[in-house]
Amino acid sequence: MPLTRRDFLKVSGMVAGGLFFNKKGQNLLKAEAYNDLKIEYATEAATICSYCSVGCGMISHIQDGELINIEGDPDHPINEGTLCSKGSSYFNMVNIYDDEGEARPNPGRVTKVFYRAPYSERWQVKDWDWALDKMAERIKETRDETFETTDDNGVTVNRTTAIAHLGSAMCNNEENYIFHKLVRSLGLVNIDHCARL
Ligand code: SF4
Repeated sequence: MPLTRRDFLKVSGMVAGGLFFNKKGQNLLKAEAYNDLKIEYATEAATICSYCSVGCGMISHIQDGELINIEGDPDHPINEGTLCSKGSSYFNMVNIYDDEGEARPNPGRVTKVFYRAPYSERWQVKDWDWALDKMAERIKETRDETFETTDDNGVTVNRTTAIAHLGSAMCNNEENYIFHKLVRSLGLVNIDHCARL
């Protein structure tokens, strides 16, 4: 049966009307729908999106020790509450919602250490103690072998050029400040960050 203009407007109106009701049938245009928000009793913590160097402000909501929501911070001077598509999906980096609407840890998140030995074609799962010991061992070995106290002109340099450090946009300013102090104290001069401007 052909759809008349009147039918089309009626169906469109019903669909549009449906967009303003939540799952409980509450009218989202009225305040009643917001009486039982899932974040009502949550603790708020200000944080920064770590995906890129824009550094948009976010508010995370935590309830019973679980992250239940992240959204743009309207009081933040950089983004004034807005987030791009990456920032908007930030919550999914940690959690996803199951079919019942409950937040569950994202099964795709890598939480273990994967190690591939030199010349090996396979990854081995290691624990963090092993990984930290291995990193410390290799850093010390390389630094001891390559540390220069003076350059060719006799100028004091106290450096190693054999180790480089790349910061991460996944870390905030304070974390990167600490990284910077650590690697400078080891004598590194090759220091960079993926989100530098
Ligand atoms: S929300 Fe988007 S623009 Fe803002 S810091 Fe995150 S990735 Fe960058």
